[in-house]
Amino acid sequence: MKKYEVSQVVSNFTKQTKSQAILFYSQSSYLMNNIKTFREIMFSFLKQSYCEKGNFILDCDCKNCKLITNLNHPDIKIITPVANSGEIPKFFMDFFLEGKVSEGNISENKLVISKDQIIEMQNFINSSLPSIGKSKTVIFWLPEYMNSVSMNLLLKTIEEPPKNTNFLFFTENKDILLPTLLSRTMQFFISGEEDKNENFVENMQMFVEWMRMCYVKKYVKLVPFIEDFSKRDKEFQKNFFVFLGFVLEQLWLSSLKMYSLMQVVDKDLETINKMASIFSTESIQKIYESVNRSLRYIVRNSNVKLVMMNLSLDIIENK
Ligand SMILES: [Zn+2]
Repeated sequence: MKKYEVSQVVSNFTKQTKSQAILFYSQSSYLMNNIKTFREIMFSFLKQSYCEKGNFILDCDCKNCKLITNLNHPDIKIITPVANSGEIPKFFMDFFLEGKVSEGNISENKLVISKDQIIEMQNFINSSLPSIGKSKTVIFWLPEYMNSVSMNLLLKTIEEPPKNTNFLFFTENKDILLPTLLSRTMQFFISGEEDKNENFVENMQMFVEWMRMCYVKKYVKLVPFIEDFSKRDKEFQKNFFVFLGFVLEQLWLSSLKMYSLMQVVDKDLETINKMASIFSTESIQKIYESVNRSLRYIVRNSNVKLVMMNLSLDIIENK
């Protein structure tokens, strides 16, 4: 995710999508840069959602923006890993307030997101209507620090999300999070470097070909296509499904007109934009969930042909 314009993402997200949970993830090897990008995204999202003047500038001096800058906004809850006391640790506060990354390593501090914090968050959501804005926002900073009790408790909330509540997750280790939690979120990879997929060109061709078959319901061609795919090696198949997740993210962004966030260029960008005009944002989300499910089946050695067939049907149904 390079040279993004957060303002646009945020604005489009808050206005158009029904999805209430977004997850931004990175790898911890890029910690320093990405955590600052996380912070930037967080503040931009919040200011865009709550600014009284409605025009997005980071140093806006309206009441809401000031409350956000000082981490005092009553409709916003930030949950970070904590030591025993339950308060946001000082180094997080320094970081949020001033952007300073302190020397101390987080992992040395035995931090956790506890069950009590999740219960408090649920109370925050359920207690009253938003007091200033139209919605409440809950931010999970490094949700991978939840223990299993916290994670299961949070899952209950996310499964039946309360109205007018957005959830933002910023994680450096999304693999630790429950798949059931992940599948409820829209996910974006934050990287300091370009993400290269070695089979990109071939994957893209296959994807376009496949979509075409689904679009015109060419079952006669679909069967040999799936047959061929099932003969490829496991790594290739997995790689293709990871690629599918990526392409669907791009489709989703395109359908929301968040062009500046997209990570494809030139011809691929054109293809995606064209395709996005065929699907609704909702159906893209549904297909995305189905792709994530399929990837899990493939990893678990399920029958590839069946997985592909089911996914094809999902695509046909949702187009
Ligand atoms: Zn403002």
